[in-house]
Amino acid sequence: MADLQATLDSIYTDILPRVGEGKVADYIPELAKVDPRQFGMVIVTVDGKVYRIGDADIAFSIQSISKVFMLTLALGKVGEGLWKRVGREPSGSAFNSIVQLEHESGIPRNPFINAGAIAVTDVVMAGHAPREAIGELLRFVRYLADDESITIDDKVARSETQTGYRNVALANFMRAYRNLDHPVDHVLGVYFHQCALSMSCEQLARAGLFLAARGSNPMTGHSVVSPKRARRINALMLTCGHYDGSGDFAYHVGLPGKSGVGGGIFAVAPGVASIAVWSPGLNKVGNSQLGAVALEMLAARTGWSVFGD
Ligand code: GLU
Repeated sequence: MADLQATLDSIYTDILPRVGEGKVADYIPELAKVDPRQFGMVIVTVDGKVYRIGDADIAFSIQSISKVFMLTLALGKVGEGLWKRVGREPSGSAFNSIVQLEHESGIPRNPFINAGAIAVTDVVMAGHAPREAIGELLRFVRYLADDESITIDDKVARSETQTGYRNVALANFMRAYRNLDHPVDHVLGVYFHQCALSMSCEQLARAGLFLAARGSNPMTGHSVVSPKRARRINALMLTCGHYDGSGDFAYHVGLPGKSGVGGGIFAVAPGVASIAVWSPGLNKVGNSQLGAVALEMLAARTGWSVFGD
């Protein structure tokens, strides 16, 4: 993989004239303040090499990418029992849609739409005060990335607490169907803080490396999940990781991935590498516009794909 840095450099050259494209998320006021003219990308290979371009060290709000880490914790706690609370099917609706919840009796379609992630958070909270659940997630992510400097951006969490009306609606709806065990404000308090995790591309790629490496992080030696569970989390990211842009992402990029409205995308080339890219401007379905373009270029230039060469 000697040319990986050259490949990343060529992507950077092609992306640079376009930096600033897309529209930053503005429904969370604190995210609306982010300068869209930023772009960073990092690849960490399963043999422990790190390749970087652009704003690879700037911490950004990982938002929905946190759902991958919370899902990993929830599966660790309750195993396959989780699937009584949340489904595994792509949604075909917007990330914050409430429509399908009514049709399916308060069981969200998958763990990566907002309703599903809120249910997953509720599962992780069992036996914990809200503050402890947030602490557990933060400790887990620091352990995964082997980096104690990772923090939660309280301003972003507060900003979403003040304006997250749709999530309040989703949570109340699920509580009415008895698919939340904890008070709505407690669950959302944890959910908004998990979304406000602040990480750089490098921290994110390191934290998710276990998903590219059969469940163990080859850089730290930590065994995180079984190979089977890593495969299954990757399957969920492939089918549901980009809301109703998931089909398009699979078509153009061909790798499991999870996006967030902070402009980050985390992706996995199984057996090869984990990748994090960040550019705050979003496309129409809420995925990083240039992040998706850069990943498409990477997949085309390396041949990485879960669908064959
Ligand atoms: N905190 C955001 C929300 O719940 C996350 C959405 C996302 O990143 O897609 O609306």
